[in-house]
Amino acid sequence: MEGRSQQFVAVLGATGSIGTSTLDVLVRHPDRFKVSVLAANTSVDHMTSLCRLHKPRYAHMADSDSAERLAEAVADCDTQVMTGADELCALVQSPEVDVVMAAIVGAAGLLSTIAAARAGKKLLLANKESLVMAGALLMDAAEASGAVILPIDSEHNAIFQCLDSNDRAVPSLDGVNSIILTASGGPFRLWDADAIYSATPTQAIAHPNWNMGAKISVDSASLMNKGLELIEASWLFRMPASRIEVVVHPQSIVHSMVRYDDGSVLAQLGNPDMRTPIAYGLAWPERIDAGVKPLDFLNMGPLEFEAADTARFPCLRLARESAQAGGTSSVICNAANEVAVEAFLSQRIEFGNIPIVVENTLAGLANQEPVSIDVVLKQDSLARQCAAAEVERISKGA
Ligand code: NAD
Ligand code: MG
Repeated sequence: MEGRSQQFVAVLGATGSIGTSTLDVLVRHPDRFKVSVLAANTSVDHMTSLCRLHKPRYAHMADSDSAERLAEAVADCDTQVMTGADELCALVQSPEVDVVMAAIVGAAGLLSTIAAARAGKKLLLANKESLVMAGALLMDAAEASGAVILPIDSEHNAIFQCLDSNDRAVPSLDGVNSIILTASGGPFRLWDADAIYSATPTQAIAHPNWNMGAKISVDSASLMNKGLELIEASWLFRMPASRIEVVVHPQSIVHSMVRYDDGSVLAQLGNPDMRTPIAYGLAWPERIDAGVKPLDFLNMGPLEFEAADTARFPCLRLARESAQAGGTSSVICNAANEVAVEAFLSQRIEFGNIPIVVENTLAGLANQEPVSIDVVLKQDSLARQCAAAEVERISKGA
């Protein structure tokens, strides 16, 4: 980016909820940023309009048929359309990219995220699953290349802001006692166990405070999202799971907190709008306008805090146990959850079966040392097979 007046940005997962919020912030600051790469999976029409609007140098579609259709649709533009996993990694690492927004959903985001970290890019990390799967490898890759990782998940972004980062990418943990992750509690916070068990996809996706993609919305309803975030925080901030607290805060105004040894607790507050952490990551260590409504203290009502109930929400317990077990346990937990959530969304299993699929998959596979991405990917694929068999067994009533 030497000599460039703008930073060149790759938005991976451009058609999703985070992608859309990212592009909304970027267009507010054309003096600072230029969209150079847009990547998505299958949404050709959406990508066609994004290419016309943002005029990226490259557009990437994971699905090859969709790439062909996009290439036809934007034949009159200067955008070059590509497909293929290696091609996406090469794009992310190219000199035409300074900043990578990693906002592909699920394990599908792992390789491009790692590629950005290896190439020393400024990595805006929304794809929490890549840290859950390969935390040590991703953090080590960033350290070796000098890549800056800025957490976009609102809780981790809040914690990053509450730590003494002193404009350094790796914040100091001096004097830090614990991290407190806040959780909205999701749409089933007040439901009894039986009602939660048989909740429908429509009910699970109706999040009270945040407007997000389907997978993370279901994870928020089961509290698996908070469990994945606990693992994410343990890697990002090099904190053992035992020093990461979870507190339910239904209003989603306090995005997370840091408890210091002297009794101080620092919190970051704001309206629940992902454009705040996205703008923070884009401009860090500066601050820019995000288009977010100011917090109105006089009209926002009381802020409440309560304990998370792992009896009604066993996914939180399972993720914490995976974090404590270490190794590839969290790879298995993540893969089984992705399979279970998809089976729930396509109405093959009940909501209450999600933790059962995860727990049985974790019990059925041996933990390993995640020494390489290959080991991680193999364990991911084994866990998917095992979880798919569990789904099959449950859906047949066996
Ligand atoms: P989403 O479902 O709205 O969007 C997902 C994006 O990923 C889409 O652009 C889709 O085209 C792309 N995609 C899906 N599968 C792909 C594949 N195989 N290859 C390439 N691209 C693919 O999801 P989202 O809510 O924007 O979430 C994205 C990521 O950000 C997730 O990891 C999520 O956990 C994280 N996150 C989201 C929020 C939020 O508010 N939405 C908050 C915190 C973290
Ligand atoms: Mg979050």
